[in-house]
Amino acid sequence: MRPEAETGRRLHGRAPDWRVLVVDEDERVHAEARGALQGLALFGRPVVLAHARSNEEARVQVLDAPDLAVVILGVETSGAAVDAALAPTLALADFIRHTAGLRNTRIVLRTHGAGHAPSPDALLRHAIDDCRTPAELSPGRLPALVAMAVRSCMQLCAHEAQSRGLEHIVRSSASLLEEAGLRAFAHGVIAQLTALLGAPGDVLVCAPGVPPVGPYRVLAAAGRFAHLADVALDAVPDAPAVALLRRALASGGNVYGNDSAGSESRELALHIGSKNAQEMAVFIDTAASHGAPDRRLLDVFCVNLGTLLHSRGLLERMHDSAYYDPLVRLPNRTRFVEKVDDCARQGMRDHILALVDIDDFSATNDVMGHRFGDRLLETVARRLADAVPTGVLLARLGADTFGVLGPVRQVSPQQLLDCMRQPLAVDGVPHKVSLTCGYVLLPEDAQAGVDLVKDATIALKRAKRDHRGQHLQYSAHMGTEARARALLLSDLRAAIDNAQLFLVYQPQLNLNTRALVGLEALVRWRADDGSLIPPDRFIPVAEHSGLIVALGQWVLYTACLTMRELLDADRAPLRMAVNVSTVQLQDPGFFETVRTTLSNTGLQGHHLELEITESVAALPTQLLESTLAALRAEGISIAIDDFGTGYSSLSYLERLPLDRIKIDGTFVRRLGEAQGARIAEMVAQLGRKLGLHVLAEGIEDATAWQALLAMDCDEGQGYFIAPPMDRSSLFQWLRERAETQRRERPLPGVSSLPGFPALPGLSSLPGHA
Ligand code: C2E
Ligand code: CA
Ligand code: CA
Repeated sequence: MRPEAETGRRLHGRAPDWRVLVVDEDERVHAEARGALQGLALFGRPVVLAHARSNEEARVQVLDAPDLAVVILGVETSGAAVDAALAPTLALADFIRHTAGLRNTRIVLRTHGAGHAPSPDALLRHAIDDCRTPAELSPGRLPALVAMAVRSCMQLCAHEAQSRGLEHIVRSSASLLEEAGLRAFAHGVIAQLTALLGAPGDVLVCAPGVPPVGPYRVLAAAGRFAHLADVALDAVPDAPAVALLRRALASGGNVYGNDSAGSESRELALHIGSKNAQEMAVFIDTAASHGAPDRRLLDVFCVNLGTLLHSRGLLERMHDSAYYDPLVRLPNRTRFVEKVDDCARQGMRDHILALVDIDDFSATNDVMGHRFGDRLLETVARRLADAVPTGVLLARLGADTFGVLGPVRQVSPQQLLDCMRQPLAVDGVPHKVSLTCGYVLLPEDAQAGVDLVKDATIALKRAKRDHRGQHLQYSAHMGTEARARALLLSDLRAAIDNAQLFLVYQPQLNLNTRALVGLEALVRWRADDGSLIPPDRFIPVAEHSGLIVALGQWVLYTACLTMRELLDADRAPLRMAVNVSTVQLQDPGFFETVRTTLSNTGLQGHHLELEITESVAALPTQLLESTLAALRAEGISIAIDDFGTGYSSLSYLERLPLDRIKIDGTFVRRLGEAQGARIAEMVAQLGRKLGLHVLAEGIEDATAWQALLAMDCDEGQGYFIAPPMDRSSLFQWLRERAETQRRERPLPGVSSLPGFPALPGLSSLPGHA
């Protein structure tokens, strides 16, 4: 079936003439028509005759050349009865309307006079426009009748084009918004105009260049301008076109030119969008289309497209913000992952995906302020950009993490790290900043972008933990390990929710007087199967994920609550010692948490000791010092745990406000060996010199106790004294101890060591390693 739209387009647009088809078996009718219409031109276009001698021939012609303005149908005379004679003709009329789909073609019936004409009802039903006798169609009157029919056809076509144009505008809205860029939008405008005007004219679409507002450029062009796409407007070699475009741009409205004779020119310029904002100007030479285009329709077209253009601008900005990081003006994580995806999908090997992270960024940000932090980020971004050649993708993936994606021969992890070798000067003061890098080499087997970024992140995290300031390549076993940790982490979260965590308490004694001086709270996790998962396994996972902050709060509160109970029961030692991870100390709310916990449990600062590890020495000094000072101002004491195992520099001992050093159990257990004894001795001396208390961990026998006493180590804890015990075992232990002390009063002197009675059921107590 012929689409009527096409017919209409041809009639209104491209068709160079008015085609009139005469269908009649009588050869004289054809001859008369030929004579009458010869050389006739209507509305600037010649009338061209076509002839069919039978209905069958007419059908073929209608289908072959559907751009018919008028069909004059002669009723066949062979049949006797009127109705029978009319039937084939009416069927042909139906064929023209429905099968060929010619809605605008005028159908005139040539009857044999009154009595032979179909009823008005039949005319209506078969969509026949006119019914004439041979006399009315005589050579003298035929031209006027054809002119009338052609005019009516022309009006119908114009009307149809107009409603089609509006429909186009509405329908194009959606598709234009989906177009990828402004250029595509401009091409869309040409397509819409072509449909609207019914002819692919000569069109120029121009818009301001980018950025910020460059000279006007041609965005899209068609027809005789087709070769001008992308040239500057000033370089378009058609002065009138450029002049019209400039007028439209200057006025912010459509310009319909007039020719020298004052009549409407075939050239016009449209303005789309708002002046000085998102705008476009379109020059059209409408020579190819017939008749002047409907101005109202073009105005509606422009207003509608202007709205679209505006939405496009918004859409583009949304797109930008979805893909760009405004602070460092680099692509963001979404963009980066997409690019890695592309790269992986194309099977690009020999590529490296590196993640570069600023060491201690959040602490630096807290101490130095956010403006410094922003400056630091910008500087790192700029230096990384300088360090990678063009074509290598650099993006900001997170707060202080940058991503680099490029060929292996162009990207060297060491070079990326070296870009911060020169200190960063802020207000003339140089700041040393180090970077850490984790990277993955793109494997042969395609992997999703996110997974590759995940692998690089695993390598980065590992590097941050064990190789700060260096780079580390991802390997498969890291992945396995990371998955195991992830699993453990989710189990730990569930354990917290299901209250599977509890605290045990290990007594700390004065080694001289055997007086109970403290209790160390240690966390325990009893798994579903009843087994205990050691804190050495899950605490690092909690630290890594940040979960330690919440977990640590719970530990602190629970330990303080127990201390409160002990005080109420008159069984309390001097202090409760709670382990605090470096991650917790970095939490800006830490001090406040401690203070509230103390006040909520009715404790005073001196009731609490916090055990921190040597790794705190790696924290920015200012933050650490101020936090510790604030805690100590509350009366809280600070102990350095596991002393001698970690940090090599001891300078922090003098710097930080501390109360106690804990000699790590590994040295205490090796007191029998020369090396172990020497270290323990050294720590004890160091403590004394600095005016700090020294507490030995892991005392497993009387010999160790005595050796420590000889070294002037004043306090200790260990299985020999008591294992870590849960709350009820602790209360029982304290009761029995008080009992024994009452019996043995006065307290035995040092010489009577090891005078501490073995505790019943010691090894069966919870928490016993
Ligand atoms: P730590 O702070 O050095 O705790 C002392 C560890 O030595 C405890 O292991 C304790 O059970 C064990 N221990 C005590 N006496 C002896 C002994 O005579 N011989 C031997 N061989 N070991 C002894 P635990 O409870 O398994 O804790 C291991 C580590 O987990 C702790 O080391 C601490 O670093 C961490 N941790 C435990 N609880 C917490 C907590 O609540 N928060 C934080 N941040 N870390 C915790
Ligand atoms: Ca400890
Ligand atoms: Ca320790």
